[in-house]
Amino acid sequence: MNLMYSSTRNHNSRVTASQAILQGLSRDGGLYVPERIPALNKTLDEMARLDYKGLAYEILKLFLTDYTEEELKYCIESAYDDKFDTPVIAPLSRVGHAYYLELFHGATIAFKDMALSILPHLLKTAAKKNNINDEIIILTATSGDTGKAALAGFADVKGTQIIVFYPKNGVSPIQEKQMVTQKGSNTHVIGVHGNFDDTQSGVKAIFNNRELADRMKENGYRFSSANSINIGRLLPQIVYYVHAYVSLYRDGRISKDEKINFVVPTGNFGNILAGYYAKSMGLPINKLICASNENKVLFDFFTTGIYDRNREFILTTSPSMDILISSNLERLIYHASGKDDAWTAGLMKSLAEKGRYEVTQKMRDNMQDFLGGYASMSDTQEIIRKTYTEHGYVMDPHTAVAAHVYEKYRNETKDCSQTVIISTASPYKFSECVLEAVHVGGIPSDDYEQAALMEKISGTGMPRAIKELRNAQILHKKVCKADKMQAEVEEILKII
Ligand SMILES: *Cc1c(COP(=O)(O)O)cnc(C)c1O
Repeated sequence: MNLMYSSTRNHNSRVTASQAILQGLSRDGGLYVPERIPALNKTLDEMARLDYKGLAYEILKLFLTDYTEEELKYCIESAYDDKFDTPVIAPLSRVGHAYYLELFHGATIAFKDMALSILPHLLKTAAKKNNINDEIIILTATSGDTGKAALAGFADVKGTQIIVFYPKNGVSPIQEKQMVTQKGSNTHVIGVHGNFDDTQSGVKAIFNNRELADRMKENGYRFSSANSINIGRLLPQIVYYVHAYVSLYRDGRISKDEKINFVVPTGNFGNILAGYYAKSMGLPINKLICASNENKVLFDFFTTGIYDRNREFILTTSPSMDILISSNLERLIYHASGKDDAWTAGLMKSLAEKGRYEVTQKMRDNMQDFLGGYASMSDTQEIIRKTYTEHGYVMDPHTAVAAHVYEKYRNETKDCSQTVIISTASPYKFSECVLEAVHVGGIPSDDYEQAALMEKISGTGMPRAIKELRNAQILHKKVCKADKMQAEVEEILKII
């Protein structure tokens, strides 16, 4: 029997995995969640014999039950290949008291590659399975990293076009350059005058516009999403939690069933939610520590039970976490409420109308797997500097938010469980900020010279993604106001 997916806001909206991936968002505005979380059905020793792809298959087949073995293996093989600069795909580095799970070895050197290398294949397969002949229009809001990873994944994929909106002044120079130099005749990149939340809300509004959807259909188009609201983004992320655990076990770093912590630099709550699903499948996880930057809406939520986005939006040195509306928290709310769709819909209505909601004590009790922490920009710089000085390891500012939160947690709780810090981006992607922390002396203004200096300091080779940027041509120059995003889409698709 197929594992079905239902909307967090309405149980009657039930679809198969491939339909959930095709649709992205449910029509009622809710997010698709699996109706039950399957248990891991291989022993640790069996899993220890598998490589990343083998493990990905064992995990994904439990969730994507309407994909055939052949289809799923094809998707996995096409995703985790030599686009990654190491066959391990997600290597662990021991630094000080913790392990860093480096998820930045893919094509765009950020963790979004882990899911966006496979999503286009899952989506194309889903279209074929469901006899969809419409052209699929991937519409995406990005705080910097999703955009490039999605563009790279979908570029020149037949039967698709991809439109990426990013906050014009809310991404790093390298992130912007990576996006606006994207090749592929089916790619579109547009800057938005506004912050990430404005951009994400604009995209959600386009998705929820029924009239537009009808016009799209008449013209042979349909939307889907490459954001982590798409369950097809989330599920592949479960794999690296299990892979990390299995690798530590295989290397004799932990014993069978020993519980470990994960610390996750968080924005939209997608990455850490995959960790929660891994735990729900039976992976021995102690705490999932949710690390925020100064936009610490999640820290406040986990400490008070009140989610309140009515606050100043702060542009930080970890832009991919500059988010006040963490979309995937809706999925956790749904699970913690005992799968109460009406209740979840009510809270989300309150969020949309008042920017705020409060959960019950019982729900807070159901969220004890999580713990919140946050780091200021100076905390972030300090931990980058300290880790480099003490261990010679250079990390990016997002990872550093998690490293700071972990250090504080360890000092305060004396919890000495083995801990994995999720490392979400290469330091090369945020060279200037990182060099300010680790380099004594002047920092060159040119991106490429910064990267060359980083190479000298970090002792790690310059990634291909950075080398390519040097002579890349700017191909996308459009910028629009937040309330003109739909008009841009209509123009691109010529459906005015
Ligand atoms: C997207 C991103 C995050 C946040 O991940 P979520 O799944 O949105 O919580 C953290 N760090 C980097 C570098 C990212 O690109």
